[in-house]
Amino acid sequence: MTFASLGLIEPLLRALETLGYQTPTPVQAQAIPAVLAGRDLMAAAQTGTGKTAGFALPLLQLLTMEGPKVAANSARALILCPTRELAEQVHASVAEYAQHLPLTTYAVYGGVSINPQMMKLRKGVDILVATPGRLIDLFRQNALKLNQLQTLVLDEADRMLDLGFSEELANIYRMLPKKRQTLLFSATFSDDIRSLAGQMLNDPLSIEVSPRNVAANTVKQWVVPVDKKRKAELFVHLMRKGRWKQVLVFAKTRNGVDALVDKLQGLGINADGIHGDKPQATRQRALDRFKASDVQILVATDVAARGLDIEDLPLVVNFDLPIVAEDYIHRIGRTGRAGNTGEAISLVCADEVNMLSAIEMLTRQTLTRKMEPDFEPEHRVPDTDASGQVVKKPKKPKKPKTSGGGGKRNLGKWVDSGDAAPTEPSIKPVRKVPVFNTGPRKKK
Ligand code: AMP
Repeated sequence: MTFASLGLIEPLLRALETLGYQTPTPVQAQAIPAVLAGRDLMAAAQTGTGKTAGFALPLLQLLTMEGPKVAANSARALILCPTRELAEQVHASVAEYAQHLPLTTYAVYGGVSINPQMMKLRKGVDILVATPGRLIDLFRQNALKLNQLQTLVLDEADRMLDLGFSEELANIYRMLPKKRQTLLFSATFSDDIRSLAGQMLNDPLSIEVSPRNVAANTVKQWVVPVDKKRKAELFVHLMRKGRWKQVLVFAKTRNGVDALVDKLQGLGINADGIHGDKPQATRQRALDRFKASDVQILVATDVAARGLDIEDLPLVVNFDLPIVAEDYIHRIGRTGRAGNTGEAISLVCADEVNMLSAIEMLTRQTLTRKMEPDFEPEHRVPDTDASGQVVKKPKKPKKPKTSGGGGKRNLGKWVDSGDAAPTEPSIKPVRKVPVFNTGPRKKK
């Protein structure tokens, strides 16, 4: 199959040729004709599947072929993204695909001054990429009208709900014209996503492509059990032993990111960190420097790193396991991209056993454990397997361990064993997050 056979116009084909895209990915093969035909779409696809081009290419074509010229302070298509980095990345891709088309594109997000964004919107833009909060600010300040909107794209919709954007999405929904095309992309189809889709989409076509890396044949994954207090020491040891050149490291909290970066920098290691508390310019600079290999170790929280496309990344280290098991798949998906092989190493302490078990259940695999000599943990990590069982074998029965309690609390919130039946072909964690009805935004 070729892009031309999907009905794409010549200026888009030319842009794809420059980018070296030869064959449509499965999500592109399914999404492009459906979007061109004007259908609403509900697509289960995550970063790495080529989903951005899947929605952007037909969207650009429709905007070129149909509809009026964009009016002042208006947008004809809106792409909503959960994070600033993702908004930038999606915008960069859209701009590349649109390079031979007479369309304007722009990205808006918080953490930077709103005034230049208001100025830029004065003339209107054909495609606006936005994070939900800043979009609402611009709308409320009359810098943006949405009555000309032809298409709405919800990118990484599950992540937007995770980040507590459901209220913003409900507000945005009220601003939209009734007649429009809506495309929803999400790594999973949880109940909440289905409910969101029920409100926002009209007779959508469902597309599901296997999430990358679930089969794990391009990413070699293993776990190193270690005591919590020795994780940083183990990380430095493994880094030196393995002569790691470029590593993306995930830590659970902002403080965890800062502490590890301080420790590494203190040892003269070229490290930087990104998390939600850092100014946008600092985050982007750290990311750009990492992509350019000017920074060797980038430490990040999930909120800052989700969806990022970093080419040829050989190694991802989970300094902490993610609280939401599904984030494990996103994290390891930063490596082993585009047919390359990659490695994903998780440093796991006894406290994290329930998270490990949840990841194994979700990905239907028992992760290999490799004990690192001199780092064998005093607090043993109980055995786990893909069934979700945690086999606790405390050495001293009279002193039962309470480890893992925190993880269990989270587990109760989002794991539904019935949903992880071995016959299910795809990953479907269930999160009980009420749609359009959440409290203040969670920060990671
Ligand atoms: P995405 O899932 O949209 O984040 O895309 C992941 C990566 O795949 C990006 O670097 C894209 O530039 C690249 N990509 C998307 N579609 C294709 C294709 N058909 N052929 C080659 N590379 C692609």
